[in-house]
Amino acid sequence: MHRSLAAWDHAYLWHPFTQMQEWEQEEPLIIHKGKGSYLIDTEGRKYLDGTSSIWVNIHGHRHPRLDRALTAQLGQIAHSTFLGLSNPPAIRLARELIRVAPKGLQRVFYSDNGSTAVEVALKMAVQYWQQRQPTAGTKHSFLHLKLAYHGDTIGAVSVGNIELFHARFKTLLFPTLEVDPPYCYRCPLRLTYPACHMACIDPLESLLKARHRELAGVILEPLVQAAAGMLTAPPGYLTRVRELCTKYNVLLIADEVATGFGRTGKMFACQHEGVTPDLMAISKGMTGGYMPLAATLATEEIYHAFLGRYDEWKTFFHGHSYTGNPLGCAVALANLDIFRREKTLTHVRKQTKLLARLLRPTASLGHVGEIRQCGLMAGIELVQDRTTRTPYPLQMRIGHRVAQVCRQGGLLMRPLGNVIALVPPLSTSPQELTKMVAILHRAIVDVTEGSASPA
Ligand SMILES: *Cc1c(COP(=O)(O)O)cnc(C)c1O
Repeated sequence: MHRSLAAWDHAYLWHPFTQMQEWEQEEPLIIHKGKGSYLIDTEGRKYLDGTSSIWVNIHGHRHPRLDRALTAQLGQIAHSTFLGLSNPPAIRLARELIRVAPKGLQRVFYSDNGSTAVEVALKMAVQYWQQRQPTAGTKHSFLHLKLAYHGDTIGAVSVGNIELFHARFKTLLFPTLEVDPPYCYRCPLRLTYPACHMACIDPLESLLKARHRELAGVILEPLVQAAAGMLTAPPGYLTRVRELCTKYNVLLIADEVATGFGRTGKMFACQHEGVTPDLMAISKGMTGGYMPLAATLATEEIYHAFLGRYDEWKTFFHGHSYTGNPLGCAVALANLDIFRREKTLTHVRKQTKLLARLLRPTASLGHVGEIRQCGLMAGIELVQDRTTRTPYPLQMRIGHRVAQVCRQGGLLMRPLGNVIALVPPLSTSPQELTKMVAILHRAIVDVTEGSASPA
């Protein structure tokens, strides 16, 4: 089976974020099955899923409850449109999402992936201000953090800022305002928490003060800027941004696509600080990693601004073919159900402590600059020189090389430049977590201390 699949992959496919010239020269790893924290390839080899299949898997692969929810829904219907029709799983899921979401979020608008959930939030914000303050037609732009990642569609790229992903498409993007993120390890002022706190917030406040009349919203990834390299914000940062958004009458849009569904130890990262955003984008963990599904949650205040007679044209003119997909919603309902039944958040808090303990020896390695962790999201920043914090040149692909050695050891990883991101399924057992960190530690030693041959 493997040989012909590998040939067809090379002949017909174009993989995301992948240099295909390189891909075509390598034997593709083809995942055939999964079970719990493990992925199994077409040759029968087992690998620990160190990225939760890029941050989507929650309760492990082939969880019986999720499998059952999906097959049960298939016995009813796979899909019907959400334009002008509704369906039971989508209705029930909306109610459950509002139950677990930060208090004050009251409405669920479905879409299919994190990028579209962000696009929806941006469009809602702009239209909201047009209808709330018809004279304030100038409230149309966004403020975001540098190094932010909000997805790959054009609007999401506009409010993002990872140079490597975005530079090429500059001509397509709308203008935005940007401020430096709280990236304490690379703080230009070399301040440490809590002295740094105001220094980090000040530029954001100045911009809000000067430009709030044109700003529809501030968008950020609460607590952890994930794709940027698991940059963890200092405590209170989010609270302060919320206060400033309220003070300057600008919407706060929380992109919880990566942090949502327990990854940080609470259902949503905003809940660590008791913050309610005005709009919240969710996706990745929503179906436990089973189906593509997303939602944008809004306050009743925002929803109300869209009500009116048909010919007032306040309708939110946005939708997708698969909006409210019953299969996705059914499995998302089961995903939330497992959180309650298996006390997933309690398990995550225990595993968070274990992970911190397991990573301690790694933190003192000669080329580990910093380890950042929030719940079960961890980033290990590798540096060429620890004293000067000099990064490895990107072309050295140090992260990629570490990931390759991990793979040989039976752990699948995907680096973020020089940062190794460990994001295990929330259901990972203490033994599995211990094994993941052991493989990873060994790989970092091998690659950075030179005993592994360069890729
Ligand atoms: C992954 C991600 C997105 C984009 O989600 P897709 O489903 O890949 O479109 C948006 N925001 C954040 C914070 C993400 O991590």
